[in-house]
Amino acid sequence: MKKIMGELALIEQIRSGAGAPRNRKVALGIGDDCAILRLPKAHEIGVTTDFTLEGRHFHRDLHPPESVGHRALARGLSDIAAMGARPLAAFLSLALPADMLATRAGQRWVESFFTGLRALGKAHDVPLAGGDTAESPTGLVLADIVLIGSAPTGRALRRSGGRAGDVLYVTGALGGSAAELVDLQHRKPDHRPAPSTPGKPGTHPQMYPQPRVEIGQALLRRHLATAAIDLSDGLSTDLAHLCHESGVGAEIFEDTLPIHPLTTKSPRGRDDAIRLALHGGEDYELLFAAPASIKMPSTLAGVPITRIGRLVRGKSVSVLDASGRRRPLKPGGWEHFSAQPKG
Ligand SMILES: [Mg+2]
Repeated sequence: MKKIMGELALIEQIRSGAGAPRNRKVALGIGDDCAILRLPKAHEIGVTTDFTLEGRHFHRDLHPPESVGHRALARGLSDIAAMGARPLAAFLSLALPADMLATRAGQRWVESFFTGLRALGKAHDVPLAGGDTAESPTGLVLADIVLIGSAPTGRALRRSGGRAGDVLYVTGALGGSAAELVDLQHRKPDHRPAPSTPGKPGTHPQMYPQPRVEIGQALLRRHLATAAIDLSDGLSTDLAHLCHESGVGAEIFEDTLPIHPLTTKSPRGRDDAIRLALHGGEDYELLFAAPASIKMPSTLAGVPITRIGRLVRGKSVSVLDASGRRRPLKPGGWEHFSAQPKG
């Protein structure tokens, strides 16, 4: 099959929107064997890597290409946010099927993927500073994104700093991403909206999640958190990680959960909304702990901060409903695209 887009053309695509090859963060960008980054004084680096695999993390018939590019970068930025770090640069390895490289429609898909990725990069001042491309042997689009960030030495927020008695907070709203996905899956293909831009904040939590980079940095700068994690797999799963690393348990007050308005579309009503808020993944909000003595602002970077529970002694993690009934909260992460929680 004749390729209309070879590897060099693809690299040009990447380079064309990557921003100035030299800026204050990137001394040398795409085009040499390595990128060279400038590390701010008295900072150390944080590195995170995330797969974006067709059929696992997105479906070409559900997610517009701009959304796939956005989400690939958002996954990495959200991890940087959870550490309170400042993003320095992103690196993308991308494998594309041969048939995609050989058609105009395929080429447009790739262009739109980069449009989405660049728009989010621009919003957070993160240049794409390098990567690799290959022909995918599987017929599927496979991407891996690496994010490099930095934080003042010894200060990065960790999962392990929580103490019994700390209050638990989340940013934004929960369950919206899973709710939007379920809604899309239940529509006939020609009735699926395919937004090519994020629209108003929070409108498309599945298609265009907003990584809380500014909030993470504010938590670190203002000494507002003892421990933090981003909600990629769902509150129940990510809270279990934070508790495990901090050596504590937790209790969540169900009626305080900030439930995303999209969850109320569910025909099963409030129970389903709570299930999505507790177990739905990919919200990319931050969950963090802070000493009870700290007066937490009601918003950070314009995003609501909600108190949802507290850390307790021991290992048990539970949910208290409005009438005070307690039930265990088991990690029940979202099974991507099955529209059913695991376990
Ligand atoms: Mg994470």
